[in-house]
Amino acid sequence: MARTPKTPSKKPAPAKTGWSKRTLTAQAMGGIDEETRGVVRPIHVATTFIRDPDNAYSSGFIYGRPDNETVRETEAIIAMWEDAKAAMLFSSGMAAATSIFLALNPGDHVIAPKVMYWSLRNWLKNDAVRLGLNVEFVDGTDTAAVKAAVRKGQTKLIWAETPSNPMWSVADLSALADIAHKAGARLAVDSTCATPVFSQPLTLGADIVMHAATKSMNGHSDVVAGALATAKDDEFWQRIAANRKNLGAILGPFEAFLLMRGLRTLDLRVRAASANAMELAKRFSEHPSVAEVLYPGLPSHPQYQLAKKQMKGGFGHMLSVRVKGGEASAVATAAAVELWKRATSLGGVESLIEHRASIEGEGTPCPPDLLRLSAGIEDVDDLYADLDQALRRATGRSNRKK
Ligand code: PLP
Repeated sequence: MARTPKTPSKKPAPAKTGWSKRTLTAQAMGGIDEETRGVVRPIHVATTFIRDPDNAYSSGFIYGRPDNETVRETEAIIAMWEDAKAAMLFSSGMAAATSIFLALNPGDHVIAPKVMYWSLRNWLKNDAVRLGLNVEFVDGTDTAAVKAAVRKGQTKLIWAETPSNPMWSVADLSALADIAHKAGARLAVDSTCATPVFSQPLTLGADIVMHAATKSMNGHSDVVAGALATAKDDEFWQRIAANRKNLGAILGPFEAFLLMRGLRTLDLRVRAASANAMELAKRFSEHPSVAEVLYPGLPSHPQYQLAKKQMKGGFGHMLSVRVKGGEASAVATAAAVELWKRATSLGGVESLIEHRASIEGEGTPCPPDLLRLSAGIEDVDDLYADLDQALRRATGRSNRKK
């Protein structure tokens, strides 16, 4: 049997050293290449490992599908950020998320929010149900509704996403954890858009936190990856590990290395992008072509107080604007940008704009006049000027201020 490490390897515990997460991450936990004394650890690409003469595998490695050293080193950084017992990396965010649901049993009842990452919602609606899960979609911001949906003895998982894609509503994680635990269920949280810089769901009572590491964690739009981090290394976590091994869903070593390189600047990037998002949210709230800005950092946001309590130091890099004139104006605005990149995804250093309803398709809760914005780290004045001109052109407004 491959040895699954109880705790991530190569991890000088921050509590012992006293160094901050930002410091340890900048140095990739301080690991060096012992052989050459290089300041960057090598990428471990071996898929198979020498067995000891007594038949054991004393290195702890047997084969590349269950485990990999470069993957472990990157997992250690993520586990640290999330104050987790352990972390696991997957070949995508979807692989990470679905591995949690695949660790449940047929007949188990699952509560998921109505507004959430659309591919996962579709998978839950179709495939998870076909596999025997009983999935119920509830307003994730309505704690009373979630509580009322719990079925004693049957509900095994509450899924939350906060801030949730693409409306950026905020779920109360402490309250949801309490509801889940009283029902004997687990709370799992897609924290991709909160990022571990601003939010640690495990410290609020969640059992598992999930990230599309493709997004802010990597930050450069060049790796597809997923991450899970757990409060407990229990039987459920080991089932997820077995899923990763048996489904061959581990992240490749090259991608894990790139992700580690991205993580080294996580704190800087995420804070810069979040400051841009905040500034853009404020400025576009006053814009004559904008009907509404959705951003949890605005006092007008319905869960602003909760976001302030739950997210420390920032509200994330994601916001949406609803364009006056409806769908046609929103699409025309996206067509008229010159600096913003018209593309799906989020969390990169470059700013992205997307007409979200058309990508989500039928059944989306996303309004047709909504443009989803992923703020990058460019000069905020440039980002504002470009979107301002696009909005004015699309909605036929002059360039004069209001
Ligand atoms: N969760 C959120 C919030 C996302 O935005 C995405 C992707 O856009 C995912 C999960 C899925 O991640 P991936 O594309 O890496 O599978």
